[in-house]
Amino acid sequence: MGFLSEEKVSEIRDRSSILEVVSDYVTLKKTGKNYKGLCPFHAEKTPSFMVNEEKQIFHCFGCGEGGDAFTFLMKVGHFSFPQAVEELAKRYGVKLPSRELSPAQKKDTAQREVLFQINQIASDYFHDLLTQRREGEEGRKYITQRGISREILTEHRLGYSADRWNGLVHHLLEKKVSLELAWKLGLIFPKSKVGDSTLREGQKLDASSWYDAFRGRLLFPIFDLHQRIVGFGGRVIREGHPKYLNSPESSIYHKGEILYGLPMAKRYAAEKDCVMIAEGYFDLLTLHQYGLKHSVATLGTALTPQHVRTLKRYTRNLITVFDADPAGDQATLRSLPLFLEEEVAGKTIILPRGEDPDGFLRQGNLGDFEKRAEHAVPIIDFFFERLTKVHDVKSVDGKVEIAKEGVALLGKIPDKIRRDFYTKALAERLDVKESFLYEILGSSPREASKSRGEGGKSSGERTFPKSEEMMVHLMAQHPEVIPIISREDVLKEFENPILQKIAEALEDLYEKKGRFNLPQALAHFDEDLKGRVSEFALQEDGLEEGDREKILEDCIQKIREKRIKKEKGELQKRIKEVDQQQEDKRLGPLLKQKLELARQREKGLQKDGFRKR
Ligand SMILES: [Zn+2]
Repeated sequence: MGFLSEEKVSEIRDRSSILEVVSDYVTLKKTGKNYKGLCPFHAEKTPSFMVNEEKQIFHCFGCGEGGDAFTFLMKVGHFSFPQAVEELAKRYGVKLPSRELSPAQKKDTAQREVLFQINQIASDYFHDLLTQRREGEEGRKYITQRGISREILTEHRLGYSADRWNGLVHHLLEKKVSLELAWKLGLIFPKSKVGDSTLREGQKLDASSWYDAFRGRLLFPIFDLHQRIVGFGGRVIREGHPKYLNSPESSIYHKGEILYGLPMAKRYAAEKDCVMIAEGYFDLLTLHQYGLKHSVATLGTALTPQHVRTLKRYTRNLITVFDADPAGDQATLRSLPLFLEEEVAGKTIILPRGEDPDGFLRQGNLGDFEKRAEHAVPIIDFFFERLTKVHDVKSVDGKVEIAKEGVALLGKIPDKIRRDFYTKALAERLDVKESFLYEILGSSPREASKSRGEGGKSSGERTFPKSEEMMVHLMAQHPEVIPIISREDVLKEFENPILQKIAEALEDLYEKKGRFNLPQALAHFDEDLKGRVSEFALQEDGLEEGDREKILEDCIQKIREKRIKKEKGELQKRIKEVDQQQEDKRLGPLLKQKLELARQREKGLQKDGFRKR
């Protein structure tokens, strides 16, 4: 990573605000010195994700993830380290020297950026066609017919692809874009079947070998949270198949993670503390056009856990608004287990049978729609309602069927209180005792979830020796204590290897650099230790300066005593063995060692001695 010197990285870090960076993804509230929010890296319902602007670090006390702004971007946005650095450099106006990368590195790191650029060039071309060109007339007519306003068209950068074979191919050539890369994005295709291997670098196929993927379609660019275009959706305008053509998955487009309209909707979702989830492009555009800007849409895929987790960063009130037909009902029901597992309140807006949000709103039913949104039905009620319609609630067989399906779903609720609540609700609906439901399952859902192992990865591991933990904590928060620790040479007496590793790294850093600040220090740790270190740095110790020294002293002493006690125990054992075997020759040195330990212990307990040395 030759072009990124340590100084450059430091400069970018210093200019960045981790608060701003994280706020793009997580709604944060101030608590004391820290900001708190729901962790984007694991499912939780009470915030344990902390950001400290002063120290420029984040840490999740639930799952243990932690680090600086770069780490955050790498984890949340799938950036490589150089990409994260570039992203922040761009955002905070730090000029980076032009890079000199090996061809392999160039391919890896530059390609993502180039792919975004190609999508942008294509989007500009499509948008220009739709808004400026004579060729775009048909697209404009279609837009008018669908009732999409100029404002929405501009905001969502809608575009049009003429019904011919090489409009985009020629435009890309003019812009000197690599056609092979445009192919990777699914914008164009080669005419003859050519394998990847036949398109080696330097080999050029001319314009006549390629054709446009999108022809005669209205185009919806799909943005990620950084306002970069990751792909396109295309709705055919005349007749033709498929009705909707979407960009394929690529290294920059992961369908299960992207929600259409989210970059525009996220602010409103956080403000309103509620987000509406629709299914289609036009549903989304119409919802936004009618002022319901806290709306997003899934794109030809069912809602995924990743979608729900993404939305949870802004609000926990998720409302689906799907078509009021059997397919829409199925989509609503499919979303229920996700909502239950992610512990969010999932509701659904029920439209008159046969309607979809787009059509319903455009018929002038905004008031009606808003009322329905206000009275959105908890999806679990929707589910129970359906069960009692499908099966005969009066017959025993019917009850058993309902109970089976119901209990299977209830088992997915991680939270015991909610689970019991819904079990009770289902029992009431069926007019049976709750125990009946548990019996049907064969075991209580409580047991089922217990064995599943709840809690984050750090819960089981957090059994650090207290004094050692406190000492590392002090080192991370107040590096000025490190010289005292070095003088006492106490780190080699640590019991816990992880803490020892962290402490030694901090000591090492301090020796090399004189002083350090935390984000700088973090950069020197492996990924698996970053979370630990940020945790130590964020836990408030609430210690006064005077206390700090006393506590440090106390820790050193306890660590030392513990070590001596352990050694003494082992020594005692050996002395006993040797004594029993009457090997006087070996007894002498052992007794001498014991004496030495006693001396060390004595010394360790002399507080005055500690301070003066
Ligand atoms: Zn977490």
